[in-house]
Amino acid sequence: MSLLAEPAVGARSRASFREFVDTAVAPYADRFDRDQKIPAEVLRQVAGRGYWGAVLPATDGGSGMDMVTLGVLHEEIGRGCSSLRSLLTVHTMAAWALRRWGTTEAREHWLPGLASGDTLGAFCLTEPAAGSDISLVATTAVRDGDDYVLDGVKQWITGGQVADVFLVFAKTERGLSAFVVDADNPGVRCTPVENALGTRASMLAEVLFAECRVPARALLGAEGAGRMVATAALDLGRYSVAAGCVGILQACLDASVAHTAGREQGGVLLREHQLVRRMISDMVTGVQAARALVRRAGELKDGRDPETLTATWIAKYFASTQAMRAATDAVQLHGASGCADGHPVNRYFRDAKVMEIIEGSSQIQQLTIAEHAYETASGGHS
Ligand SMILES: Cc1cc2nc3c(=O)[nH]c(=O)nc-3n(C[C@H](O)[C@H](O)[C@H](O)COP(=O)(O)OP(=O)(O)OC[C@H]3O[C@@H](n4cnc5c(N)ncnc54)[C@H](O)[C@@H]3O)c2cc1C
Repeated sequence: MSLLAEPAVGARSRASFREFVDTAVAPYADRFDRDQKIPAEVLRQVAGRGYWGAVLPATDGGSGMDMVTLGVLHEEIGRGCSSLRSLLTVHTMAAWALRRWGTTEAREHWLPGLASGDTLGAFCLTEPAAGSDISLVATTAVRDGDDYVLDGVKQWITGGQVADVFLVFAKTERGLSAFVVDADNPGVRCTPVENALGTRASMLAEVLFAECRVPARALLGAEGAGRMVATAALDLGRYSVAAGCVGILQACLDASVAHTAGREQGGVLLREHQLVRRMISDMVTGVQAARALVRRAGELKDGRDPETLTATWIAKYFASTQAMRAATDAVQLHGASGCADGHPVNRYFRDAKVMEIIEGSSQIQQLTIAEHAYETASGGHS
């Protein structure tokens, strides 16, 4: 069996996802990037296809996708537009966490909209002082009668401009805790973040919580369970980003093959130069290896195997660094045209850099993967 062969159901899903991306997303992604937004009509089309509620079961109004299929979906969307994939990532993280840890009341209130896409979710963890180190979160949630009152500021919130509900991490007396907060709460104020390096159409925002009062039903799990909720949600987000990076890799390969097969320099097509072929072969190898790592992480998730955590770190670390490398080579192979504003490889290059930073930076992943190696090695000898 070829490394890329997919089970029949997976292959059918990919064809359907691909058809959507090739008709409704990829041809317009540079315009989305320039306008720094995804049109509401496209977000509605995503809803019509059931992609917002991908991981929610049918009983909650979702599509009940398994994790391998979710990976294929996010790869295909990432091939067309990393900004749209980012919006799907954070929405999926919020919806999944709410379903897993939300109170019955909270689930009944928010899940139907999150499943249909009538309600968009976002993930609020990062703060000015708290990036890779989430123990530095300074946002507070103070119990006041039947409510909590949140105060603090969250930065770099994907989808913050359009989200209807936020999954917010704040410190209570018992430690980091997770809350669901409506965007139209009078204590919430969103300020758009413009001209970021990459994922420019992901409608980033800074989100301020000022005396933001929420009912107790907004708490996910128990007070102090926030680190566990964040870790699990970030694992899902990391998996989605890894899959999206496979999409960037594939897009870089497709664009580079097409360009070098059509442009002549030095009396021959660019594709005839051996140094050009080295870059193409590295992209082919990178995309196949990254796709296999993502699929393995997805299969472990579907099998509820805890080893998926490490497999997801490895998949995201490899896929994001390979995407950055492929995007660098894709710009190189396109020469000046690849540097032009509005050229897709220009966008892949900027988006790929972001992938090495979000959902655990490459350095944090290196540390985690190495730590796992030492833990499993010492476990094997004890
Ligand atoms: C486009 C975009 C979208 C985002 N969307 C969201 C979102 O939706 N929700 C959200 O909560 N956040 C979001 N983020 C924030 C993102 O999660 C953080 O940027 C990320 O966690 C890194 O934190 P930081 O930027 O503060 O960098 P820092 O943590 O300050 O790190 C800076 C550098 O130091 C390195 N470093 C840090 N610690 C160590 C260490 N122990 N050892 C070695 N090197 C280290 C890092 O690898 C990095 O290279 C987004 C960011 C971007 C750019």
